[in-house]
Amino acid sequence: MDFAESTEHQALRSAVAGIAAKFGPRYYAEHAAARTPCAELWQALGEAGFIGVNVPEEYGGGGGGLTELALVCEEIAAAGTPLLLLLVSAAISAEMIAEFGTGEQRRTWLPGLASGAVKVVFAITEPDAGSNTLRISTTAARDGDDWVLNGTKYYISGVDEAQALLVVARTGQDERGGRLSEFIVHADAPGLARHLLPVDVLLPERQFTLHFDGVRVGPGALVGAEGEGFRQVFHGLNPERITGAALATGIARHALNAASRYAADRKVWSDPIGAHQGVSHPLAKAKIETELAALMTRQAAWQHDHGVPAGESANMAKYAAAEAALAALDAAIQTHGGNGLASEYGLLPYWGLARLLRIAPVNREMILNYVAQHSLGLPRSY
Ligand SMILES: Cc1cc2nc3c(=O)[nH]c(=O)nc-3n(C[C@H](O)[C@H](O)[C@H](O)COP(=O)(O)OP(=O)(O)OC[C@H]3O[C@@H](n4cnc5c(N)ncnc54)[C@H](O)[C@@H]3O)c2cc1C
Repeated sequence: MDFAESTEHQALRSAVAGIAAKFGPRYYAEHAAARTPCAELWQALGEAGFIGVNVPEEYGGGGGGLTELALVCEEIAAAGTPLLLLLVSAAISAEMIAEFGTGEQRRTWLPGLASGAVKVVFAITEPDAGSNTLRISTTAARDGDDWVLNGTKYYISGVDEAQALLVVARTGQDERGGRLSEFIVHADAPGLARHLLPVDVLLPERQFTLHFDGVRVGPGALVGAEGEGFRQVFHGLNPERITGAALATGIARHALNAASRYAADRKVWSDPIGAHQGVSHPLAKAKIETELAALMTRQAAWQHDHGVPAGESANMAKYAAAEAALAALDAAIQTHGGNGLASEYGLLPYWGLARLLRIAPVNREMILNYVAQHSLGLPRSY
């Protein structure tokens, strides 16, 4: 067993960190407050080949896997510039199109996804079917060779930045519930209306409610075979969980670095505040949780890249990393005292994203359900 990080991965980390550092926490905080995309950072990462690091080389990507994409996610977050759409466009959409897309879909979408010029966002969540995907009511019905989509999705991130959406829709019914299929729908398709869904967390990426009112797509929009959506979604959700875990790990590292610097400098009695265990122990605990989450994330990414079932590790990694990020941020804010809430110290912008990662892409409780049922063999509880 070799735990040493390869020189290639070390070089990838430092190249990504170098680009992200040119933008930094202030840039991120300003975009999060204004709710405007971090377009310049996305472009710089795309031009350097890091947005498409997991896209096959024949489509202009880096030819790497989830391991490399997770490193990119972790490093940008550790530099204070986490990008939520990497989880959606690069992890879910690019992975699913590369794995299940037709030759035409790959040729159409993967080069742009690889360069970062194109974003494809992911639409599965519905008002009446959040955690229970099989209950979605957005339908896609055949009309000749075409498909016609009707229904509502909400909390869909980045629709305003995207050229297309990967939409999960019901194309029938089977014994488990909805028979699901996936479609690539252009963001400006006639019949597709979007409405901003305001959220109070500070995020550069905006969320939308989408109404599909007779949205017609051709046969080439169907990803893979009809009825294969459930299997595809499960394949694509592991990358989202793994990159979500990596982003959370990076946020935790960023918070712990800021807190350690501050606690070593700040003196209100004779010693720096970091000498008090009331300050140092919560930081040390969060550091341990962060390193454990990073290890599990690495294992999950490795399994995914090697075709080994990664569901358990991906779930555990996402759980552990979201908890570690929240613990690290909370300890960092407490360490900063009143300055923990100050714009100048820039910690609160990350709290919303870390808090989101406890809810999405899968919430903490559904992960505990998964582990109870699949890892421990306990009865299904719902
Ligand atoms: C900022 C933001 C961005 C998002 N971006 C996207 C996106 O780009 N695309 C997309 O498709 N979706 C997106 N989502 C949606 C997100 O994935 C869902 O919010 C998440 O999956 C949870 O679904 P829900 O909100 O319907 O919660 P629900 O399913 O209603 O669950 C609510 C709570 O109930 C508990 N719960 C539910 N079921 C169980 C159970 N069986 N056992 C125990 N507890 C349970 C959990 O604590 C859960 O948090 C986003 C959400 C937010 C807030």
